Amino acid sequence: MIPPSGSYRLANIRLHRSLTPGLAAAFDPDGFALADISVADGKIASIVARAKSKAEADAIDLAGRIVLPCFVDCHTHIDKGHIWPRKPNPDGTFMGALNATGADRTTRWNAEDVARRMDFSLRSAYAHGTKAMRTHLDSVPPQEEISWPVFEAMREKWRGRIDLQAACLLGIEGVRDKAWFERLAKRVAAAKGVLGVVTYMVPDLEELLDQVFAQAIKHGLDLDFHADETDDVAAMSLKKIAEASLWNGFEGNILVGHCCSLARQPDLEVLDTLDKVAKARLAVVSLPMCNLYLQDRRNNHTTPRWRGVTLLHEMKARGIKVAVASDNTRDPFYAYGDLDMLEVYRMATRILHFDHPVGDWPKAVAATPAEVMRLDGAGILAAGSSADFIIFKGRSWTELLSRPESDRIVVREGRAIECQLPDYAELDELMV
Ligand SMILES: [Zn+2]
Repeated sequence: MIPPSGSYRLANIRLHRSLTPGLAAAFDPDGFALADISVADGKIASIVARAKSKAEADAIDLAGRIVLPCFVDCHTHIDKGHIWPRKPNPDGTFMGALNATGADRTTRWNAEDVARRMDFSLRSAYAHGTKAMRTHLDSVPPQEEISWPVFEAMREKWRGRIDLQAACLLGIEGVRDKAWFERLAKRVAAAKGVLGVVTYMVPDLEELLDQVFAQAIKHGLDLDFHADETDDVAAMSLKKIAEASLWNGFEGNILVGHCCSLARQPDLEVLDTLDKVAKARLAVVSLPMCNLYLQDRRNNHTTPRWRGVTLLHEMKARGIKVAVASDNTRDPFYAYGDLDMLEVYRMATRILHFDHPVGDWPKAVAATPAEVMRLDGAGILAAGSSADFIIFKGRSWTELLSRPESDRIVVREGRAIECQLPDYAELDELMV
């Protein structure tokens, strides 16, 4: 359907207002407008509202199908991905995940193992239409010396297909070893990475956060936190991160993931935290599938009673940048998943109510994570930008989000790619 020449006009497509900032058109209540896109030399030459009288001879009529920009997945763990067959989570709990992953990492994560699983994950994401991704890398000694070189090689291998970023991942107690943490920050800076830690309510949290911010400032790094991935109402490290950012005068980008406990806290506490998060210009990413899986699992055959996700609506209403992302795939933190951002958006719509109205929620899987990751021109459709988009069968939200859309057409630099998912059997020999 897409001419291999890379020059054509797609007529009669549905574009969403939130992801086509330059399009002047009459948008329907769902935020869609019919439009034509012209592509030449791998770039979008123009996007114009549908002109019914226009000659159709040279155009490909897509009969109202939805076209979205390629996805940006800002929170993943492709170093952990796909270890499930050899290291399942014994009980589906957070502690079960932590212990199982730690045991697998210390015994199995050599460079080849990490590289092959990462490549498998990237092929899945690419086939589903993702063009940029941030992964966390477990960086507890000695893993940082194994995984960071693998990441650098993988980023090079995938350049032009998936724009890959990495953030280090360690519990904040690891920051207490100042000399080691400084070495890690330097290693991350050398790889043009992002400085990341997992925050808990340890007694010296404020002091440790100051050290994290000091290293980020010293080495010019953006920050990425895992915070409050728990139902414990006493977990309020999101607020502590915002306060630390303000008193350290931090000017880089900060992304905070999870923030589950916020949804369990009293309103006054929530309002105070959100004020500080907005003031400190933190961005927040929710991981709805992983949260649904791990949170409120009491492991005594009870039924979960909350959804695990944080307060994205309240955050967005205050102007806080919000995103959703994949998080884990087929590892002890999440038994399922395939780095398909359409699945993430579909699940987020159900779990987080991204509907009635849809408003600008589609930005949460495209334009907003692109901003947080400093990817100019990604996550939107605009004249002059690379022709990277996905053509779906669905013509409305209810059609788009009711089927897996496994036959979507992914276009990169104007040409349809081969959407071939890797075979699970490829990893069998790593799973024994
Ligand atoms: Zn995570």
